[in-house]
Amino acid sequence: MLWQTDRRGMVTGGSAALLLGGCATGAATRPAAAIRQAPACLAKVLADPNRVIRTVAGLRPFRPSGFVVRAQALGDTRLVHNYGHGGGGISLSWGSSRLATSLGLPSHAGPVAVIGAGIMGLTTARLVQEAGYAVTLYTEALPPDTTSNIAGGQIFPTGYFDDDVATPEFRAQADAAADYSRRRFQIMAGDDYGIRWLPTYDQTRGSGPLTPDPRFPGRVRLTPEEHPFPAENVVRYSTMYVETGRFLERLLRDIRVAGGKVALRSFHSPADVAALPEKLVFNCTGLGAAKLFGDTELVPVRGQLAVLIPQPELQYAYALRAGYMFPRGDGVLLGGTYERGEYLAQPQPQDIADIVESHRSLMAGWHCA
Ligand SMILES: Cc1cc2nc3c(=O)[nH]c(=O)nc-3n(C[C@H](O)[C@H](O)[C@H](O)COP(=O)(O)OP(=O)(O)OC[C@H]3O[C@@H](n4cnc5c(N)ncnc54)[C@H](O)[C@@H]3O)c2cc1C
Repeated sequence: MLWQTDRRGMVTGGSAALLLGGCATGAATRPAAAIRQAPACLAKVLADPNRVIRTVAGLRPFRPSGFVVRAQALGDTRLVHNYGHGGGGISLSWGSSRLATSLGLPSHAGPVAVIGAGIMGLTTARLVQEAGYAVTLYTEALPPDTTSNIAGGQIFPTGYFDDDVATPEFRAQADAAADYSRRRFQIMAGDDYGIRWLPTYDQTRGSGPLTPDPRFPGRVRLTPEEHPFPAENVVRYSTMYVETGRFLERLLRDIRVAGGKVALRSFHSPADVAALPEKLVFNCTGLGAAKLFGDTELVPVRGQLAVLIPQPELQYAYALRAGYMFPRGDGVLLGGTYERGEYLAQPQPQDIADIVESHRSLMAGWHCA
């Protein structure tokens, strides 16, 4: 099972890796037992402050009881909310947006409005179009200026509810959303949308046997000889990663190609929303929903990333206690912090230095030449 740690807000999510880098490149032709015992030489992350090409900070829209997909009447307008996905919005996007469109579209006739152009607004708009409706996307900011652009892009939702608050019903709904999203991302995998599978290394709390779980394809527990990390209880599985900037830009392209309109506009009250000509409106405003609709449960959880010079030889990801590393074409992402209630979306130099140092130290303990 994946876990999160709180090393001054350091968060880790899921992960695992097939040995594509380093000395295990011939593994595909070997029998299964030999694959497991192959020396775990992976390309090293060159974690050094002078390789940092940018730093970013974003505010995850977090609700302890989980994200909101709910319909309400606003005069003669039907409003469907789809916001509050915390640290899992990319992973949950298609599934959550499908829940929202299933609430809004049946029995609706006429054009549809979507407010917000992050991952939730864009996936909602695409699903609305796929169902045959005309859509207008209203938004204060477009990619690349959304929180969704900041995301690391691992397709495995973490940090989107509090264990002691979320209900079993919410969790079942979230699992269904994550499952649909995984299937949708799978059929979009490839360079065009910037989605690829990577073996990912993760740590579990205990060292007991692993139960089969479709969320972790190919998951195996590794012996210390089977991986190079100075870490205990390491497992490896495969999951998808999205280069979020490219993905969002492609979705926006798809919406426009399918005839969708895009209008830059800020909404300041529910009355602004009710005044739209469209009588079905999806609210995908992320953290913006706190002010716009008075949701006091919605709080920011700041995440900061240090991005290093791309290293194409990194063909794996990890999420260990030291932090997480997602290698992308636009840089090697080192994360990350998890700071609840922090509203300033600015990278903090000391936190960034700590992140880089944590990964440098991890690499210093590498036990593979
Ligand atoms: C550092 C970091 C790493 C992350 N990594 C991952 C990851 O690996 N995997 C994962 O699944 N998730 C990850 N996330 C979480 C993910 O980024 C969010 O859950 C997701 O981006 C939320 O998307 P959204 O569309 O709801 O919000 P946003 O992307 O914030 O979009 C909201 C949109 O609404 C518009 N808007 C807001 N208010 C108004 C208004 N009043 N009027 C008009 N328009 C308005 C905004 O301009 C914007 O276009 C990460 C987040 C951070 C910060």
